Amino acid sequence: MAIIIGIDALEPTYVEEFNCRNLMQKHFGRTDISDFSEPRTIVLWSSFLAGKNLEKEVLALGDKDMWHFSLKAEQTFLSKFGKRRVVDVPGFAYSREQHLLERNQLKKFFNNEISIEEFDKPVLEYHQKIKERFLEDLDGNFDLLFYYFNAADVIGHVSFANKAKMGLIYKDLDELAGRAAGKGQKMLIVSDHGMQAVGRFGDHCPDYGFWSTSFEADLRHPKITSFRSLIEKEML
Ligand SMILES: [Zn+2]
Repeated sequence: MAIIIGIDALEPTYVEEFNCRNLMQKHFGRTDISDFSEPRTIVLWSSFLAGKNLEKEVLALGDKDMWHFSLKAEQTFLSKFGKRRVVDVPGFAYSREQHLLERNQLKKFFNNEISIEEFDKPVLEYHQKIKERFLEDLDGNFDLLFYYFNAADVIGHVSFANKAKMGLIYKDLDELAGRAAGKGQKMLIVSDHGMQAVGRFGDHCPDYGFWSTSFEADLRHPKITSFRSLIEKEML
């Protein structure tokens, strides 16, 4: 079973600062996303899946419909895996309801309509729910398990400078990665972009994302579009 953990906005400097050994795995580093005009989540994950830069295609849908962009399995590396479980990955198996709610929450927060606790609550609840499903599926019989987690991004947007809170999120992700590593399978952890502090808030970092592998892949500073061939070569 190949395992891919997609983590939105995992900031490499925090991974090291919080000493997240499981997220770092055996090999880790930064990706290069400088080919993209902006570090947009839906664009980057779609491009990761397809193994090519899909910025033009996604942006052609316009701001409002961009998030509806959806690839067929045949356009991605996913079709190479027989029995697969792909959960919540933007550009393929995205949970619209939850993420619409999160974007509304962001609006409300920045309009001072809800407190930071009210903002965090549904994000953390959703994270726990997906995490529990992931831990259950680790015992399943799949060729590919690909789960996506976005709490580091959503919570990061309003609390990135709050290291006590971000440390807890990273610790939780690290624990989840540790449980997955315990399976002894080939595992790739990847993030679309990093995060940088803007006052107490956070914004997507335009230059790099994060990667780590449980196996030697000689990646150094890969483009996010180069993982498709690696996955098809090393993880099938
Ligand atoms: Zn993102």
